[in-house]
Amino acid sequence: MEQPIAVTRQSFDDWMVPVYAPADFILVRGEGSQVWDQQGKSYIDFAGGIAVNALGHAHPVVTAALVEQAGKLWHLGNGYTNEPVLRLAKQLIDATFADKVFFCNSGAEANEAALKLARKRALDKGNSSKNQIVAFNNAFHGRTLFTVSAGGQPKYSKDFAPLPGGITHTPFNDLAAAAEVINDQTCAVIVEPIQGEGGVLPADPAFLQGLRELCDRHDAVLIFDEVQTGMGRTGELYAYTQYGVVPDVLTTAKALGCGFPIGAMLTTDELAKTLSVGTHGTTYGGNPLATAVAGAVFSIINTPEVLEGVKQRHQWFLDGLNKINQQYPIFSEIRGGGLLIGCQLTQDYAGKAKQITQLANEEGVIALIAGPDVVRFTPSLIIPEQDVKEGLARFARAVARICS
Ligand SMILES: *Cc1c(COP(=O)(O)O)cnc(C)c1O
Repeated sequence: MEQPIAVTRQSFDDWMVPVYAPADFILVRGEGSQVWDQQGKSYIDFAGGIAVNALGHAHPVVTAALVEQAGKLWHLGNGYTNEPVLRLAKQLIDATFADKVFFCNSGAEANEAALKLARKRALDKGNSSKNQIVAFNNAFHGRTLFTVSAGGQPKYSKDFAPLPGGITHTPFNDLAAAAEVINDQTCAVIVEPIQGEGGVLPADPAFLQGLRELCDRHDAVLIFDEVQTGMGRTGELYAYTQYGVVPDVLTTAKALGCGFPIGAMLTTDELAKTLSVGTHGTTYGGNPLATAVAGAVFSIINTPEVLEGVKQRHQWFLDGLNKINQQYPIFSEIRGGGLLIGCQLTQDYAGKAKQITQLANEEGVIALIAGPDVVRFTPSLIIPEQDVKEGLARFARAVARICS
């Protein structure tokens, strides 16, 4: 066998399109909520690959599902259906409001499908001017041109103009402002139940309820982007059940495959008809390898043990973070749901979230940011108590350093 090519962090700068600025070490192995770098240093993983690795690393049941399917059938193309995709569709349908599922490979693609569905549905009804989409400031829906335009952070879209038109943004959690712009020309409203990338900002229940009523009144499709809140992240399979507001379309990805790329758009029978044969698709969508993995993931996450465990772990994090904050007051608010937790930095530490996560890396813990002023935690839903304690102890050392 040929020797593998020697790679270091410098190789990234040498060979990769520089859209990312990764940490200055390379992780090579993971088990549960611990990962190790090339030098053998261990880290507690409080990021879970940005809310993706909901069962940690190398979960034995998920790995077994992958290996088993890998030996059977990887891919067919959508001219042929397969068993794992149909089983996963049934699991999702039985557990949610949905009657039909469209599979794709990422969150952005799931949202792209949702927005296209909404546009076509209005057109099919004979209303060619009913094409307006309402979205919210600070939202994040992905990086395709359509979804990045629906997102409410112009820094991500402005360089790619001309952008798809017909999208209006209003302030998140401001129902009156939304009511101003939602009318009979609106085909869709897209919203995250908790804005993740935007800073871990939960929607007010009255806001989502109000959007539901406005969509009903104006025959618009209500899309919940649950790419980050989904698959048990908030302690329910999907956050919409906590809000008691049922969307027309729900998008899910991230934790759905726990690291194997997969996304899905869930909807009702009535809306699904819009996307008739040939109107939309993607080569890998519903591929047997991805759906076999997601099926195993689903059967573990959608259990009372795991979902109740998320609520318990939320409390462990809150207790630990509050304790750190008593000793070193750097957070003005700790918010979010389940294991999607955001810590807002005080004025004194504004802009320092990245620096804090870098110090955390040095201390042996991996955390995320959600904008420049929020430290975010999205660990495995089954992270052991010992790892939570050890990770928070390491994080406390990082906080002590930023305060000194
Ligand atoms: C991550 C994310 C997306 C984009 O998902 P990709 O898989 O990166 O395309 C969309 N919406 C929300 C809410 C997300 O958190």
